[in-house]
Amino acid sequence: MNPVYRSTLASIAFAAAGAFVVGLIAGAAMGWAALAGALLLHVVYHARHLARLARWAADPVAGNVPEGKGIWDEVLALVHRFERAAERRELELAEALARFRRAAQALPDGVIILDGDGRIEWCNDNAAALLALDATADVGQPILNLVREPAFRDYLNSREQHAPVLITRGHGLTLALQIIPYGQEQKLLLCRDVTRAERVETMRRDFVANVSHELRTPLTVLVGFLETVRELKLDPQRVRDYLGMMDEQASRMQRIIDDLLALSTLEAAPPPPPEQVRVAPLLARLKADASALSAGRHSVTLDGEPKADLLGSERELASAFGNLVSNAIRYTPAGGKVTLVWRDGPEGASFTVEDTGVGIAAEHIPRLTERFYRVDRSRSRETGGTGLGLAIVKHALARHQAALEIDSRPGAGSRFTVRFPAQRLAHVSQNARQPHHEAGESDHQRERGDQ
Ligand code: ADP
Repeated sequence: MNPVYRSTLASIAFAAAGAFVVGLIAGAAMGWAALAGALLLHVVYHARHLARLARWAADPVAGNVPEGKGIWDEVLALVHRFERAAERRELELAEALARFRRAAQALPDGVIILDGDGRIEWCNDNAAALLALDATADVGQPILNLVREPAFRDYLNSREQHAPVLITRGHGLTLALQIIPYGQEQKLLLCRDVTRAERVETMRRDFVANVSHELRTPLTVLVGFLETVRELKLDPQRVRDYLGMMDEQASRMQRIIDDLLALSTLEAAPPPPPEQVRVAPLLARLKADASALSAGRHSVTLDGEPKADLLGSERELASAFGNLVSNAIRYTPAGGKVTLVWRDGPEGASFTVEDTGVGIAAEHIPRLTERFYRVDRSRSRETGGTGLGLAIVKHALARHQAALEIDSRPGAGSRFTVRFPAQRLAHVSQNARQPHHEAGESDHQRERGDQ
C-alpha cells in the first residue's frame, strides 16, 4: 500500500482508538469531541505542509524544497530528488546549447537561425559582421528589415532556395546567402563572403574572352589571306607580299602564345632554386638588345657599377628587365633617349629604365600590369606588343620579393623602377670581378664573336 495511505489510515485509526478510550472514561460526548479534535489537528498538519509546498512551487528555487515531518518528510524528499534531477537535466541542456553555439561560432560562414516568420532567433559573429547585424539587439527583428536587397527579398519569398543568392553590399563585398529549412518552419540562413571567388571568376571570364579576341584577330586576317591566295590568280610578287603579311600575323599569334605560356609558368610552377645572377653582364646584354631593337633610332645609355649580384632566376629576371627595356624603346619615338640605371647598396638594389617617350596618363598606371591592358591598342600592336609584358614583369618580380614603381607623365616620358630587398643581393662573385665586356656587347654576341 502507498505509504501516504498507510500513514493516514494509521493516524485515523490511532485517533479513533484514543477517542474511543476517552469515550469510555469520560462519556460518549467527550469521546466524539476528542475524535473531532484529533481529526482537526490532522487536517491542520497536512494543510500547513500543503501550503508550504504550494508556496515553494509558486517560485521553486533549487535546493529550497521545504522540510517536513512524518509522512511529509518522505513526500518532500521525493520532490527534492525530482527537483535535483530536473536541475541536472537543465544544466546538461544549457551545456549542449553552449556547445552548439560554440560550434556555430567557429564556422567560417555566417549562420543565422530564423523563426517561421523570418525573425532572427540567433546569429553567429561572422553573420553579424558580414551583414552588419547586432547579434544581441537584432534578435527578434525580421531579417528583411535588416537585409533589404531586393534579390534577397525575392529569394526568401520564393520556393526555389536550392542554390544560394548573391548580393552585393558596400565596399564591393559580394555575399552568397542560402536558406536551409529545418525543424518546424524554422530556417537556417547561411552567409558566405564570395568577393574573392567572384573576382577570380570575373577575371577568368575576362581572360578567356581576351585571349580568344587576341588570337581571333590575327587568325581572321590569316584565313582571309589564305582564301585570297587560293582563290585568286595572283602574280608571284603579290603572293610573296601576302605570305609576308601572313607571316606577320602568325608571328603575332606565336608571341601571344609564348607570353601566355611564360605567364602560366610564372603563376603555376614553384620558383626555381635561386642562383647567383651576375648583374653586369645582364645589364650589358639588355643594353645590346635595346640598341638592336632601336636600330639606331634612339640613344641608349647604361649607368651604374654593380657591386652586388642578384639571387634568383636569371631567366625570369632577364625576361622582366627585357620587357621594360623593350617597352621603353617601343613607346619612345625616334630621336628619344632610353637610360638603364643600376644602383645597389646595403639596403637593397634598384634597376630603372627611363625613357623620353609618349608617357602614360595617371589613370592608366594602376592597371598597366593587368593582362592585355593597353593604353594605346594600335601603338602596342604596331610595335609587336602582346599586352602581356608588364603582367609577366609583375609575376616575375613577385617571385623575387621585388616591387615595381611606375612614374610617368603623358608626353614627358616614363620611369619604371624595380626595387630588390637586401636579402636578394649577394657579394659579387669572383667571376663577376673579371673585367666587364664593353657595354653594348651581349654574352650571346661575345659567344658568337669568339667562335
Ligand atoms: P604591350 O605588349 O602592349 O607593350 P605591356 O604589358 O608591356 O604590353 O604594357 C602595357 C601597356 O603599358 C602598353 O600597351 C602601353 O600602353 C603601356 N606602356 C608600357 N611601357 C610603357 C612605356 N615605357 N611608355 C609608355 N607606355 C608604356
